[in-house]
Amino acid sequence: MNIQTACALELHDVSHAYAEVRAVDHVSLHVNEGEVICLLGPSGCGKSTILRLAAGLEPLQQGRVLMQDRLVADGTSRQSVPPERRGVGLVFQDFALFPHLSVARNVGFGLADLDARARELRIAEVLEQVDMTEFAEAYPHALSGGQQQRIALARALAPQPAILLLDEPFSGLDARLREQIRDDTLHVLKRSRTATLMVTHDPEEAMFMADRIYLMQSGRVVQSGSPDALYHRPVSPFVARFFTNTNDLTGEVMSGHVMTPLGSLPAPGLADGAAVQILIRPESLRVVPAGAGNAPAVPALVEEVRFLGGSKLLVVRLEPGSQEGPLLRVRHAGRQLPEPGSRILLQLDPADALIFPERRDGDCRQPER
Ligand code: ADP
Repeated sequence: MNIQTACALELHDVSHAYAEVRAVDHVSLHVNEGEVICLLGPSGCGKSTILRLAAGLEPLQQGRVLMQDRLVADGTSRQSVPPERRGVGLVFQDFALFPHLSVARNVGFGLADLDARARELRIAEVLEQVDMTEFAEAYPHALSGGQQQRIALARALAPQPAILLLDEPFSGLDARLREQIRDDTLHVLKRSRTATLMVTHDPEEAMFMADRIYLMQSGRVVQSGSPDALYHRPVSPFVARFFTNTNDLTGEVMSGHVMTPLGSLPAPGLADGAAVQILIRPESLRVVPAGAGNAPAVPALVEEVRFLGGSKLLVVRLEPGSQEGPLLRVRHAGRQLPEPGSRILLQLDPADALIFPERRDGDCRQPER
């Protein structure tokens, strides 16, 4: 059976400028019913502007915005449905709770259309969803940051919006709390099947929360797809580096392969003689004992060892006999920690090397994935 899911939100070829600043440049995206989508990118790349255009807080200059197949803003005709009639729920970084209203009245704020009894029932229902029932009569100042975040979420969910728009909703929370709260939030969103578009600059957060990610650079979407696709099949060095640090090597393609200090790597689809960048993530390099497996291992000299909690970061030099060998960072999970000054063997699964033609850095094409 083919079940067609409706689109909660669609942006078609949307562009936006603030005076001379082109903040959003020909962006198209969609959020299906029940999906959690993250808009990810460095500060200033246009994420919040997209959220504001979707909400109707910023007049649309170019393109079209649809919600549940209904046109809500058109850049050509300049027609626009006002924010309060779009059926959007908003949660901002600072939560923006009303300090003079109790938790229950904050949550009930958008429920003026319901009669008193229905309103009370809905408030109780969403407070239960976010596990805050016992705080109904408390005031915001008496709540922790995490509790305020849950109330902001409950208030946005209460009117059952067609789409929830979240702008960096966890960045005001301290690191220890953040992980738990985003896990709780994801459960609430998935249980209520609320379509969600969330802005974040944190790649780990996006990978944790999102069904799909739109990664932005300078107002454009540079890649969209599942967290797995963006992490393992980045379309450019910018995308690869956005998720982790990388070790960067260069090389030239010969007969479908590129020779590197870590061995020969397949470079399918690249012409002989093409100059390439080779990006290798610190976690893609393994420290192996002598004689391990059949795959070739290369010797390296350990120069530095840094603790990162569960794993360690090794700084190693290839071609240990010379001072000229490339320095690489290796994320090492083993308990046995090599000493600085010791020699180790390194192995790379060729499938983990990310190879790009030189020209692709900064490439802003938007592939279909
Ligand atoms: P992000 O959310 O990714 O940090 P924004 O959408 O806030 O990015 O901003 C995109 C660009 O537009 C930035 O260069 C920013 O300085 C600029 N900008 C955002 N809001 C305004 C505004 N109200 N007036 C002028 N420039 C703005």
